[in-house]
Amino acid sequence: MLEIKNLRASYGEIEALHDVSFHVEDGAIVALLGANGAGKTTTLRAISGTIKHSGTITFDGVSLTDYGPEDVARLGIAHVPEGRGTLAELTVWENLMLGGYLLRSEPLHEQYARVTEYFPWMETRKKQHAGTLSGGEQQMLAIARALMMKPKVILLDEPSMGLAPLVARDIFALLQTINRKDGVALLLVEQNAVSALATASHAYVLETGRVAATGIAQELARDDRVRRLYLGLDPITA
Ligand code: ATP
Repeated sequence: MLEIKNLRASYGEIEALHDVSFHVEDGAIVALLGANGAGKTTTLRAISGTIKHSGTITFDGVSLTDYGPEDVARLGIAHVPEGRGTLAELTVWENLMLGGYLLRSEPLHEQYARVTEYFPWMETRKKQHAGTLSGGEQQMLAIARALMMKPKVILLDEPSMGLAPLVARDIFALLQTINRKDGVALLLVEQNAVSALATASHAYVLETGRVAATGIAQELARDDRVRRLYLGLDPITA
């Protein structure tokens, strides 16, 4: 459904992506892993139309080459950026309404009811300012806001960042539930390789702007070479 071919992107003189190709199938969970600076965030920015790039990105057969962020979102690609992107001064309710504003495929109250089924606590906290929520709650709000668009795919940039392990575990479990129930595909950028590989079906490992390893997530998680060279994990057989 989402196909990236020979993607290149630069920040001024610095070439961040040299040649990245991968795809995300309908309804799949795909992890994009790699060390700091490997180009994970830049890849998501290129897909969501927030940085210039060359190469091709197609979504359901449509080329995204000349698409800006709003056009990409309207096609059904939601982006939950690093640091979540919720608006601290706005309430939970207002943040959700901003998410629903772009794509009014169903009445707002129906969107709200559908999304808050995953996050029942939001109903009682809807007047709370987003900035006063815990880190885990803010991450859930960012995911909920993306879901208000009823997207076909969500790009998630390090959803476990800064969260306690148990809270991160809940977020990964929730993402799997949302994927299963809503059929929405997830492209999951993560530093937490173990959790990401346990959540995803397929994974791509980036190294300095190139795809260095790819495969079925469970198999990559057991591959000692991949663990040692690219994921900073101890070999299983050590
Ligand atoms: P991390 O896991 O640390 O977030 P990443 O894999 O997401 O890393 P990117 O943020 O995509 O990596 O960065 C890829 C390269 O591009 C790095 O060398 C980084 O320094 C550079 N880069 C990223 N953003 C900018 C920017 N705004 N200006 C200049 N260089 C940048």
